[in-house]
Amino acid sequence: MRNGEVSYWWQARGIPPRRPSLPGATQADVCIVGGGYTGLWTAYYLKRADPGLGIVVLEAAFAGFGASGRNGGWVTAALPGSRSRYARHPGGRKGVRELERHLRDTVDEVARVCLAEGIDAGLVKGGTLTVATTAAQDARLRQRLAHDRSWGDEEGTVRYLNKTELDDRLQVTGAVGALYSPHCARAQPADLVAGLAEAVTRSGVLLYEATPVTSISPGRAHTAAGDVRAPFVLRCTEGFTAAMPGQRRTLLPMNSSMIITGPLDDAAWKSIGWDRFETLSDEAHAYMYAQRTADGRIALGGRGVPYRFGSGLDHDGAVSPSTVAQLGRILRSMFPVTVEAGIDHAWCGVLGVPRDWCATVMLDPRTGLGWAGGYTGQGVAAANLAGRTLADLVRGVSSPLTAALGGPPLAALGAGTGPLGRGPWPVRPVPHGGPPGISRPLGAYLPARPGRRPDLRHPRVAAAGERPGCLTPRRGAGYPRLYYVCILGEGFQTGSLAGSGNNCSCGYLDFSPAYFFLHNCRLGDLHRAGSPGHS
Ligand SMILES: Cc1cc2nc3c(=O)[nH]c(=O)nc-3n(C[C@H](O)[C@H](O)[C@H](O)COP(=O)(O)OP(=O)(O)OC[C@H]3O[C@@H](n4cnc5c(N)ncnc54)[C@H](O)[C@@H]3O)c2cc1C
Repeated sequence: MRNGEVSYWWQARGIPPRRPSLPGATQADVCIVGGGYTGLWTAYYLKRADPGLGIVVLEAAFAGFGASGRNGGWVTAALPGSRSRYARHPGGRKGVRELERHLRDTVDEVARVCLAEGIDAGLVKGGTLTVATTAAQDARLRQRLAHDRSWGDEEGTVRYLNKTELDDRLQVTGAVGALYSPHCARAQPADLVAGLAEAVTRSGVLLYEATPVTSISPGRAHTAAGDVRAPFVLRCTEGFTAAMPGQRRTLLPMNSSMIITGPLDDAAWKSIGWDRFETLSDEAHAYMYAQRTADGRIALGGRGVPYRFGSGLDHDGAVSPSTVAQLGRILRSMFPVTVEAGIDHAWCGVLGVPRDWCATVMLDPRTGLGWAGGYTGQGVAAANLAGRTLADLVRGVSSPLTAALGGPPLAALGAGTGPLGRGPWPVRPVPHGGPPGISRPLGAYLPARPGRRPDLRHPRVAAAGERPGCLTPRRGAGYPRLYYVCILGEGFQTGSLAGSGNNCSCGYLDFSPAYFFLHNCRLGDLHRAGSPGHS
């Protein structure tokens, strides 16, 4: 099994030779930092709207090196975050519905550009299935459906499939029902980002690779080779943002990990079905996502070790053996027939999570600084919408996108400068005497999935005498000031703690019941404990 090496998707098409680096100081109309979907889509739409614009994209490694070349390939219309949180913006519920409509259209927009630009990313719009394999999961599915209905989603947007209807599409062991939405396509993510980079450079955008930006200031992106001066400098670095000076707490770098099987034979596919290529997730607490790939495999992801100590980023996509084992167990439990094909490759990547779980597009007209990101793991389509929005903001165009949430022009997608605030995570005192930098709202902003509530009866919580949402610092004499956020409950977090090596483990919302405790303890204590009940 290969591990890391960026991703299976890149290995399958071949890691590309580097484009030239920035040769020296230069000027442009717009400088974009980061060559993933966000940066490239922004460049694409800017250039199309105004071919005379001089646009420079600076990429630290190569276009698509980040999450854009490693993701699960879901081109999904799902809102990155919770509706009710977006609805706190002045646009309210109407603004959220508008944003959701734009996201649904975006799935088709990505397909349209692929066709127009000759990008073969294996895109198939087969919709998405969320299956339930237990009665509890089924109950949650139905609650989720009721929640969607309460927001106005009709049968055409999401519907329940009973077991017979589901079996007709896909055989998942133990499945009792599913939700189906047509607003999702599967794609080969590296093919998509590579094709997009080609389209962008063809249009005259200057894309410099192997050019890390060391810092950004109004009118300038600083690099070792020299500065790029531009009236607009756009930060499109999502999960890598924490490494930029001054941005350490802007977005939490969250890890997501994937495995892919060897090619399945015809008999295996006959028993599984999956002829319509829906993307697939389930309603278990431990998050998973999967697709049937164009080359006859199953690619499946989950969160594994979701947070690396000190907002650590990437190790060329290498995944811990425990995460591979966990994902393999999920795969085999859903599709026992995949044992034969084995696992060919495992990798991971970082995505960006804002503290309020709402994606943002932002441009400050006073400084010319802008950014987009924080898609919380649902950024493939959202980055296209964000790129179009950012392009409109740069051009000063008032458009349906820049008004999507009905807020001020700075706040297009997500909470912007609205009441939730979009700046860096504040370093401020925490109720209960917790540490600086992690605020109590962190917990409040970490629902497992919209609509899920903590289980007040969880025995470990009762035993520990804690209440959900309560940050409780444990102070011990001589302990270094290291803080851990972990969660009591079933799922991956035990493995995350035990298998985290020298990482701090931030068990989080996907591993509901979402009780969290803040601990001030030594790393060794955490490892010895090996279980969330003890840590
Ligand atoms: C394993 C995994 C699975 C996922 N699955 C899905 C999915 O199925 N569907 C979905 O919708 N979303 C998914 N996501 C999320 C989605 O991939 C991301 O939200 C999206 O790709 C973000 O695109 P981006 O361009 O903003 O960031 P990235 O693709 O991360 O691009 C940022 C780029 O900036 C560059 N960079 C960083 N720092 C600097 C610097 N200082 N100077 C210059 N360049 C720099 C990086 O090298 C990188 O190329 C997944 C993410 C991961 C990691």
